[in-house]
Amino acid sequence: MGEPSRDMAGGLLRIDLTALAANYLDLARRVWPSRTAAVVKADAYGLGARQVAPVFERAGCEDFFVAHLEEALALKSALSPGAKLYVLNGLQPGAETTCLTAGVIPVLNGLEQAWRWRDLAASRGAALPAVIQIDSGMARLGLSEADLDELLADATFFDEVSLALVMSHLACSDEPAAASNAEQRARFAALADRLPAARWSLANSGGIFLDASHHGNLVRPGVGLYGASPNAGPNPMRPVVRLDARVIQVRDVAAGDRVGYGLTYARETAGRIATIAVGYADGWPRHLSNTGAAYYQGVRLPIAGRVSMDSITLDVSALGERGLALKLGDLVELLGPHQTLEDVARDAATIPYEILTNLGRRYHRTYVEDPVMQQLPISLRQAGARS
Ligand SMILES: *Cc1c(COP(=O)(O)O)cnc(C)c1O
Repeated sequence: MGEPSRDMAGGLLRIDLTALAANYLDLARRVWPSRTAAVVKADAYGLGARQVAPVFERAGCEDFFVAHLEEALALKSALSPGAKLYVLNGLQPGAETTCLTAGVIPVLNGLEQAWRWRDLAASRGAALPAVIQIDSGMARLGLSEADLDELLADATFFDEVSLALVMSHLACSDEPAAASNAEQRARFAALADRLPAARWSLANSGGIFLDASHHGNLVRPGVGLYGASPNAGPNPMRPVVRLDARVIQVRDVAAGDRVGYGLTYARETAGRIATIAVGYADGWPRHLSNTGAAYYQGVRLPIAGRVSMDSITLDVSALGERGLALKLGDLVELLGPHQTLEDVARDAATIPYEILTNLGRRYHRTYVEDPVMQQLPISLRQAGARS
């Protein structure tokens, strides 16, 4: 299915490219002179990597992280030839030549991956670049201390593999007070010190808001770029996403009428229900049943009953008291000035990441950009980072 037209779509998703660039520059400024990469995995957290990554590049970004090699291959032609692409999930068996041919830099997460990359380099007689990830205490991806011992015992490894970056990842960067942040940083520093001198990288979005000792040479924000808060504090980022849903039916209900699957919602008095054309198949969590809301002209419209696959029923009775009415084809706000990603995530008992990356494929998407932005040269990097 292609993307529906604006008039036919059940939801309109608006992605603000100017806000994306502003968020990149905001984060880059906070860590300067450390450099700032962009994490654009999962199709840039659901927003469209090929549309979004070039915006970061124009703002000065040179380093792009994805999770899968396929994501790197799909993104490459949207960026300039000099852009560096890294695959966080590592070098999968059989992917070596594809990775090399595409000029993509693998993140080596284990010894077996390191040996395969080294063997390819040896067979070609030329050193190949790679990132080494060290597990500093999260036990997800990366070399253990014992792996590192074994790697360093190999006298020629670093003749064949040139270290572009050594990295690790923080488990609790969204909790600035967590003791594990400093513990992981210390452990990472001790282990990374044993490798040949290389740039180092530890911080994701949350890590940028820890003290500068966590910043290293390169920070790797994802979610903050997309407008979500890097930690539980007030959100310093600019909102990027707006989502509006189409009203497809409005009806009066009598006192006691029940609504939706399982008949879990009933009004005590007569009221009005509007049905919108967004459901859990569009990534709007079913967990929002009888919990979440939409907004119309600032008025809260609670979700009435269960979230269905393709639709949601809203109790819009409150509009009448304000002299407002919804009709077929009208739009209500799901994400916007009255409801943030954090609000929806809290109501759905999840995190903004999951709301973003689940945003549906049936929405009509528009990318908007302040005309001034289109003219900004790459040198904005310096101007933005120093101001
Ligand atoms: C996803 C990811 C990031 C980005 O994290 P955010 O919390 O979205 O800023 C950085 N580094 C690694 C290794 C990741 O997996």
